[in-house]
Amino acid sequence: MGKGKLDGRVVIVTGAARGQGEQEARLFTEEGARVVVADVLEEQGRALAEEIDALYVPLDVGSEEAWQSAVRAAQQAYGHIDGLVNNAGILRFNALTDTPLDEFMQVVKVNQVGCFLGVKTVAPVMSDGGTIVNTASYTAVTGMAAVGAYAATKHAILGLTRVAALELAPRGIRVNAVCPGAVDTAMSNPSLLDPDADREETAKAIDGLYRKLVPLGRIGRPEEVARLALFLTSQDSSYITGQPFVIDGGWLAGVAVI
Ligand code: NAD
Repeated sequence: MGKGKLDGRVVIVTGAARGQGEQEARLFTEEGARVVVADVLEEQGRALAEEIDALYVPLDVGSEEAWQSAVRAAQQAYGHIDGLVNNAGILRFNALTDTPLDEFMQVVKVNQVGCFLGVKTVAPVMSDGGTIVNTASYTAVTGMAAVGAYAATKHAILGLTRVAALELAPRGIRVNAVCPGAVDTAMSNPSLLDPDADREETAKAIDGLYRKLVPLGRIGRPEEVARLALFLTSQDSSYITGQPFVIDGGWLAGVAVI
């Protein structure tokens, strides 16, 4: 048998077809977990699942019915569920006064309701001693102009995390949150999805921006967030629950005026 940090554990990762979720699915598999790749992106999700010998389940995290059938599929395939990473999320840019209600509610439905439904549906059937990692954001702990709906949902995810940690602690289920700063995925770098984009130019612009903005001088990598999610999903974090973990290259530490 292997000696991975997640040997024998079954973990559902939402939004796992690409970006941070994909890296979490890959790393968790390397560490011995059976991963359930849950996403609305069917083609990419299936291809990844095939590559890493995982199970793909179609899941729109805003739908309670979809959660119930995803959980049934995971149980049928693997028999038990030991971990959940609520990673799926969407971002919309708009000043609050320009944000249409529909747009606000769409962001709430995916980011906040999705996270709530994940806890609500998975925790009751999760093994005692399981783990939940909710993906919040740097904008869960500070403000950022033009992402009001997003920041509101990410703040809410920290509230859900703390309450879930309290309610599930008697069963040894630990619930924590990751709060990434800027991470190089399609969310912060949409050119990754554009086949016509000039990759070199975009990379240069991103380098320039984050060299100034972030103390460590660069954008984060999805693999780095995956390592934090692994820590919070494994026994390495056995006495930690109810906490937000900022991973942002020092962005939140403050500003340099000279
Ligand atoms: P991404 O856009 O590459 O990945 C998001 C994934 O979520 C995609 O696979 C997408 O298909 C999936 N998804 C979207 N709506 C869904 C739905 N309704 N149901 C199921 N899946 C859905 O971006 P990412 O950076 O990998 O984002 C992962 C998480 O990290 C998100 O919660 C995001 O808010 C958070 N985050 C990202 C950054 C960043 O800079 N990239 C920073 C802080 C937090």
